[in-house]
Amino acid sequence: MESMTSTPAIPAPGAHTELDALLSALVGGALERRTPTREQALALLATGDDALLDVVAAAGRVRRAFFGRRVKLNYLVNMKSGLCPEDCFYCSQRLGSQAEILKYSWIAPEQACALAAKAVGAGAKRVCLVASGRGPSDRDVTRVAETVAAIKDGTPDVEVCVCLGLLQDGQAARLAAAGADAYSHNLNTAEEKYADICTTHTFADRVDTLHTATAAGLSPCSGAIFGMGESDEDVVSVAYALRELDPDSVPVNFLIPFEGTPLGDRWDLTPARCLRILALFRFLFPDVEVRLAGGREIHLRTLQPLALHLANAVFLGDYLTSEGAPGAADLAMITDAGFTVEGRAETTLPPARAEQVALRRRGAGTDLPANT
Ligand code: SF4
Repeated sequence: MESMTSTPAIPAPGAHTELDALLSALVGGALERRTPTREQALALLATGDDALLDVVAAAGRVRRAFFGRRVKLNYLVNMKSGLCPEDCFYCSQRLGSQAEILKYSWIAPEQACALAAKAVGAGAKRVCLVASGRGPSDRDVTRVAETVAAIKDGTPDVEVCVCLGLLQDGQAARLAAAGADAYSHNLNTAEEKYADICTTHTFADRVDTLHTATAAGLSPCSGAIFGMGESDEDVVSVAYALRELDPDSVPVNFLIPFEGTPLGDRWDLTPARCLRILALFRFLFPDVEVRLAGGREIHLRTLQPLALHLANAVFLGDYLTSEGAPGAADLAMITDAGFTVEGRAETTLPPARAEQVALRRRGAGTDLPANT
């Protein structure tokens, strides 16, 4: 007599499933720094929760191949908070925000330096100097340049990244001349969706500023925010748009829904969704710093340690207008999960990019046969 109960189909050990094929193609491609196809990216995002640990393990192999078990710590200094004339819907500092955040004008360079020094003492390798606003005036750039120079005077080997919004001609070069290492400006979401999250500037404005900063010799840092109602196609679109910018670091943020902002009631994300997005970014940016950024505590919750198998950098301490986990708790999480804090003397990015340029040692001008 046939049993009335059905058992779930469990693949026999060694059986090759569609999931195995997808993950093995993604891992193989990423290890050779090949960009996945859109179809592969969408298929990864569509995997179910049963496959979650397989997805994390696969992307974790790529993370370890390029970054070992090192975690780079970044620290945010909000040099000017709130009262922004722009209307980014996700932002607690936007025009008309009712969020009860701290609002202040520029902090003194000495205060920024003191905060940076404390963060470096706690293990931060990069300090991110951030200010609200559409973009800096030349006077603002002077102030930030002084701050950068003062931080570098005290700790020459700390990386300083600046995030001041849209740049005008000559400003990026002045920041670079002052010793800034990087410029950060997120694309945030897919180009097609940008007007849904901001009406006062465009996606193209943001891309332009990243190009300007890169052309001035600043290391480009650009990422996105998820949990703003985007579809899988939108996630993939912004990821590919970021890929086009060839950034050195990619912060992956999950929306912090501030009451008093237009997106204050959006709690769309699950920890599993966050992990799948992070895995996608690891496959798309195998040898680039993928940073677990804002919103990790509230959306990943108890699954945060799994995210360390995907991202190779995190923010330590508080965010711009909301509080993060206590630094000691994050350091304990990193240790407990089997990772180590990256030292300032260590190089974050693998020498991979240089290795991709193989100088010709065969054919014309040599005794060796040509590559034909
Ligand atoms: S994200 Fe930046 S530009 Fe947009 S509202 Fe916030 S501070 Fe202003």
